[in-house]
Amino acid sequence: RVPVAALLQRPADAIVRPEAAAHSKIPLPGDLYAPERRNSRGVEFGARLGLDRLLTDVKAETAGLGPIADATAEQANAAVTAARAGFASWSRTPATTRAAALEQAAHLLESRGARFIALLQAEGGKTLDDALSELREAVDFCRYYAAQGRKLFGVDAAMPGPTGESNTLAMRGRGVFVAISPWNFPLAIFLGQVTAALMAGNSVVAKPAEQTPRIAREAVALLHEAGIPKDALHLVAGDGRIGAALTAHADIAGVVFTGSTEVARSINRTLAAKDGPIVPLIAETGGINAMIADATALPEQVADDVVTSAFRSAGQRCSALRLLFVQEDVADRMIEMIAGAARELRIGDPCDVATHVGPVIDMEAKQRLEAHIARMTREARLHFAGHAPQGCFVAPHIFELKDAGQLTEEVFGPILHVVRYRAESLERVLATIERTGYGLTLGIHSRIDDTIEAIIDRLQIGNIYVNRNMIGAVVGVQPFGGNGLSGTGPKAGGPHYLARFATEQTVTINT
Ligand code: GLU
Repeated sequence: RVPVAALLQRPADAIVRPEAAAHSKIPLPGDLYAPERRNSRGVEFGARLGLDRLLTDVKAETAGLGPIADATAEQANAAVTAARAGFASWSRTPATTRAAALEQAAHLLESRGARFIALLQAEGGKTLDDALSELREAVDFCRYYAAQGRKLFGVDAAMPGPTGESNTLAMRGRGVFVAISPWNFPLAIFLGQVTAALMAGNSVVAKPAEQTPRIAREAVALLHEAGIPKDALHLVAGDGRIGAALTAHADIAGVVFTGSTEVARSINRTLAAKDGPIVPLIAETGGINAMIADATALPEQVADDVVTSAFRSAGQRCSALRLLFVQEDVADRMIEMIAGAARELRIGDPCDVATHVGPVIDMEAKQRLEAHIARMTREARLHFAGHAPQGCFVAPHIFELKDAGQLTEEVFGPILHVVRYRAESLERVLATIERTGYGLTLGIHSRIDDTIEAIIDRLQIGNIYVNRNMIGAVVGVQPFGGNGLSGTGPKAGGPHYLARFATEQTVTINT
């Protein structure tokens, strides 16, 4: 048996991610799970990791413990008070020490990768592909923010000034940051938010999604072990009511949130209604993400990229494709090829390495998605419906709409909507995308540079992918975040993110 740690530390065969490969040593799923190797190396890899055994352990453990208890509003308030006390010394801890703790966290995550993969599968329903990518992303966030933080917070910047005067600009923590994270990336986004806030010198009260508190609990324990003081980082489990209590607290200095637009708005209202300091909100929300495929696009590539973008992770990514605009001239052929590619997807047990599409997060999500499928079946043309096993699964569906306006809200699951357009009405397509008010991701498939440039120039969208799929932004390579209804703009995994968590202080001394 190859020790798990040794396996996880095997250098990634660099595919196309030079910077990220330098961050994380965890193998890339795309490498281990290329379709032709899925059933040979893939199975072997899973077995060597001891995932079967670990999963059994994790499941037994979680079954034995029952649900994690929700915090009460009093406990949430107490956590903010304790974090406020913890801020005093953490904000004065040198940036190099804070960065070293994050680097140690990255190391611990890698060496316990198999345990986190098992947790992501057991609690988050993640396929092995998705769990591996998420673990890589979590490690990358820790290393990337440590590296950025050393640069930004390491030394105060000397500013120019007249003779006889010294001017410096320092970046400092703001105070207690509340971090509210989603269930769809219960490790990566959870740790991304928390480590960014900590690196910037804040103390943190983290409120994970109510569906995935266990992963969060282990991640927090790991950060404490890595050197983050207990009073600088607190975990408060619970549903939206606990999130609301935390954001309403008088002593918080910032909120970082990933989730729905509706909740982001309500947090904004809460913050605005409070007396006292003005508290910033860093929000990353959803999108009605579109892709435009014109007649010059390569149909095979479009089919592959559409299926990946719309159905991988069961469509449960903010970045996922919801609305595909296909040029009329090639629409029949393209839709047929996309449906053909979707037919190849295996839906089922996320722990089976051959599975492409795992479960949706809970029965409530399933019911919501099924209601949408029922409505679309009445109002649109069904091109494809996959087969889902019994349980918390939703099969991929492809519907053709007469009008993009039939899709009025984000549908967070494996459902693709297609609309045909004529070459001369591309402008109308762009106006339709703009009118949604969202601005998270956009895909373009075209071989005409002028068209590509014109679209990029015209739309204010956070992440645009040309002639490839539109999910899986890599830390330090594709900084990620949206505009408008999709968020307040800061880019997670980008060079300017940490600054949004900090406050700046200019000191002028007459020497
Ligand atoms: N960063 C992820 C991606 O690029 C999506 C994050 C989310 O779903 O919130 O696919």
